Amino acid sequence: MSTIFSQIVAGEVPADIVYRDEYVTCFKDINPVAPVHILIIPNKEIATVNDLTEVDQMLAGHMVLTAARLAAELRIDESGYRLVMNCNQEGGQIVYHLHMHLIGGRQMGSISGGK
Ligand code: AMP
Repeated sequence: MSTIFSQIVAGEVPADIVYRDEYVTCFKDINPVAPVHILIIPNKEIATVNDLTEVDQMLAGHMVLTAARLAAELRIDESGYRLVMNCNQEGGQIVYHLHMHLIGGRQMGSISGGK
């Protein structure tokens, strides 16, 4: 099922896009929880982490490497950052188009109870 993120990939809905290539689109989260809060999403529609298959191995790796590169560009690689992928209801997933949160620019707390 299409979500607003597919519409962002298609250019039908505006977003603050910081990077895009053949495989992923990266844009600022509309409700940031930290000074840096970027979403890295695959251009193709994949609902959740559960829906990744063997053919998506390169894509999943590309998402992580893209996040690391953006962190370096934003100079939070040395201080540190958090990568989060929420899956399904109890994981706190709201948008059912696979995405990775790149969160940084402040001290993170314990992972219990928050992003
Ligand atoms: P999740 O809980 O992992 O599904 O997170 C979804 C994230 O998408 C939330 O942090 C929202 O603030 C963010 N979000 C929802 N709609 C938009 C949008 N149109 N542009 C940017 N970020 C969005």
